[in-house]
Amino acid sequence: MSALSPINRESELRADATKLAELWKTAQIIHLVDARLSAGDDSLTFIDAAAVAAAQEVFEEGDRFFLGVGRDDNQAYFAWRTTWINPPEDDGTEQFEQCKYEGFKSLRQVGGHLDTDELALAMHAVGLANWHWTHTHCSKCGAKTVSDLGGSVRVCPEDATQHHPRTDPAVIVLVKDKDDRILLGHQPVWPDKRFSTFAGFVETGESFEECVSREVFEEAGVYASEIKYLTSQPWPFPASIMIAFEAITHRPEEARPDGTEITEVRWFSRDEMKAAVATQDILLPPKISVARRMIEAWYTRVDGYTRDQLRGGESWRP
Ligand SMILES: [Zn+2]
Repeated sequence: MSALSPINRESELRADATKLAELWKTAQIIHLVDARLSAGDDSLTFIDAAAVAAAQEVFEEGDRFFLGVGRDDNQAYFAWRTTWINPPEDDGTEQFEQCKYEGFKSLRQVGGHLDTDELALAMHAVGLANWHWTHTHCSKCGAKTVSDLGGSVRVCPEDATQHHPRTDPAVIVLVKDKDDRILLGHQPVWPDKRFSTFAGFVETGESFEECVSREVFEEAGVYASEIKYLTSQPWPFPASIMIAFEAITHRPEEARPDGTEITEVRWFSRDEMKAAVATQDILLPPKISVARRMIEAWYTRVDGYTRDQLRGGESWRP
């Protein structure tokens, strides 16, 4: 696996088209086709500007996104988002999918295998790709917009309005009781036996804390108190950021699923979690997810409980 220098976004360079064009010539470039990344099994594959020029025989001109510059090595990173000029003919087979996207992987496929810096680049690139793909027109006047400032905005040529990438905040909550057990829920859209933390989108006019209380009560039937912020994670599926909290409920026996979004809830002590993972009675959320990190952080807080005891369940929803 490659080791990148941490990336500075260098947002002040976005307005300098000459500088960006100069950086492009020696850039490491992630090639995105239909929001799939150029990647091997466990790392991103970067191409250079000459390879982009050569690839334009079969791919549309596309958009260039400036992602930033390596903090230690001054290496510039871009993403090039494009699609086929003449897409391979879809015969509906799995082989077609493989051949159409040979050398390309979705963030779901490869994200869990990337190191921190590559994952940050991939999240940035895919988040921008998703947004540009679905926000092609001005929301004020309906005219077609164009990408500007290194792909960080789109601009309307008719009324000069700037349109910024959208990020939808969602809270995710690790619910605990006073005995330090955790409450996890199962969604019917997930694979059998997948259990994870509770989550939901922040609504207009709502604080994060209010959203935590509402979601936990709606989905699991318990009141959350002592709400504490833990961490956050970009989640470009297609455009979220997950804001992670833990909370305590003093009436664990009242936990019950809402029956629609969540069809089962279960309390786990560390020993119960260890046994359930060992017997494959529970499938944990994928490694790339903040939910998995929250569960692992809780589990390993006590001596003798280690991350390798929580192996398995990495696959995404089918
Ligand atoms: Zn407009």
